[in-house]
Amino acid sequence: MPNYRFRCQAGCEFDALYAMAEVPRETKCRVCDGTATRLVSAPHLSGAGTAAYGLIDRAAQSAHEPQVVTGLPTSSAGPPKRQPVTHNPLHAKLPRP
Ligand SMILES: [Zn+2]
Repeated sequence: MPNYRFRCQAGCEFDALYAMAEVPRETKCRVCDGTATRLVSAPHLSGAGTAAYGLIDRAAQSAHEPQVVTGLPTSSAGPPKRQPVTHNPLHAKLPRP
């Protein structure tokens, strides 16, 4: 149901929910009981591209396409890395760090 903005003659502004087929041009002001007319405003059609929308997309994707884990996660204090060993005799002539 769309949200419509109204302003009365005294300057009060408020929002009201109406069905699109039933929205009146004028209604009673909720603040001062005067006559409020409907304002023309831009519709809020889409939130695509916002951070909230991205979060919803990622949550839906993880539900349908979960990431496949092939091994245990590595900890920062895991086993030390081994130096690669070469058996090429030409590599023995290269300078060492
Ligand atoms: Zn008012």
